[in-house]
Amino acid sequence: MLLYIETKAKSYPLTQTLIQQFSQREVIEIQHYKNLFDKTISYPTLPALMIAKQEPIAILPTPAHYGYPGKSFFFKPSLNCVFDCSYCYLKGTFKNAFPVIFVNDEDIQTALGQHICKLREEGYTGQITFYASNYTDVLAIDHWTHFCERFFPFFAHYENVLLEVRTKSANIEGLKQLAMEQMRREAGKEVGKHVEIAFSLSPESLAQAYEPFTAPLQKKLEAIEELLQLGYRVGLRFLPLLPVEQYEKVYGTLIEQVKKAVTIEQIASIFIAPLIYNARDLAVMKKKYAVAGKEAFPFWEGLQADEQGLMKMSASHYECFAQLFRAGFPWKEIWWDYR
Ligand code: SF4
Repeated sequence: MLLYIETKAKSYPLTQTLIQQFSQREVIEIQHYKNLFDKTISYPTLPALMIAKQEPIAILPTPAHYGYPGKSFFFKPSLNCVFDCSYCYLKGTFKNAFPVIFVNDEDIQTALGQHICKLREEGYTGQITFYASNYTDVLAIDHWTHFCERFFPFFAHYENVLLEVRTKSANIEGLKQLAMEQMRREAGKEVGKHVEIAFSLSPESLAQAYEPFTAPLQKKLEAIEELLQLGYRVGLRFLPLLPVEQYEKVYGTLIEQVKKAVTIEQIASIFIAPLIYNARDLAVMKKKYAVAGKEAFPFWEGLQADEQGLMKMSASHYECFAQLFRAGFPWKEIWWDYR
C-alpha cells in the first residue's frame, strides 16, 4: 500500500492511526494531495491511499429536490470509494481512483457547527440534513477512519439536524461498538437518532454485474436488521434504479426479499433515485468504458438530457419505478432522492 501523506497532515492523530493500520506500507510525503489527485493515472500502480488536510472546508448545498425536505448540504470526510462500482459517477467526477481521507476533523466540525448556527441565527428552524457519503462511502472504510465514532457525538449536540451516512457496505462493527458503549454509559438511551444509516440496495443480478465489490444483499439485510434492533435509525435507498430488461420483475424480487428480511415498520425512510450524470461526466465514463462496448451499460443509451442538461432516464421509467415501489411498500412514503 502506498500512503501519500501531506506534510501538513502528518501530525494529526488520525494520520498516525491510519499509518499503523497498514503493515505493508510505503509512506511518501507530498505537498498537496491535489498535485496527484487531479492527475489521470493511466499506468498500473500499487493500491494507494492519500491522507490530507481539507482546506478550505467544503460544505455544499445539495441540488434542489435532493433528499429530505428542508436545508441540505454535502460535506466531504473523504473522497472516492473503495467499491468502485462501474456506473459510479465518481469515475467521471475525479481523475483517478485513489481514496483521500481528510484528517482535520476539528476544522470540519467547526465549519459544520458555524453553518448550523448561521442558519439558526437567520431564523431557519426546520430540519438541516448533512450528507457525508456523496463523494465516498464512509461506512465502508469506517474500520480505517472511525468516522462514526468521530462524528456521531458531534451531531448529537444539535436539535433537528440529521446526518445521513449512505452505504453499500455491511461494515457495522464500529456501529455495534458505539451502541454498546452508549448502553454502558446511558442505559435505556437510544443510539444515534440524529444519524440515519441509509443502506443502498440493488437487485442481486445488477449488484453482481455493476457493484461486484459491495457487500452481498443478504449481508446488508442482516446488517439493517441488526442495527434496527440496536436502536439505530435506518433508512433504505434503492439507487441507482436501472431500467434494464424486465426491470419490473428484477426490482419486484428485490422488494420482496427486503420485506421478508427487514422489519419495515421500523425503517425511518425509503428513498429511490435514478442514475443521473452531468453530460461531461457521462462523456468521460463512456470514454473510460469504450472497450467494453455499448452492451456493457445498456441503460446509458436511454438517458435523456433534462432542461438543466442532466442525463436521466425517461419520464415513463420514472413513473413505472414510482408505481412499483409504492405498490411494494404501500404503508410507507416513497421519496425521490433526486429527481
Ligand atoms: S458504493 Fe456508491 S460511491 Fe461507492 S463506488 Fe459504488 S456507487 Fe460509487
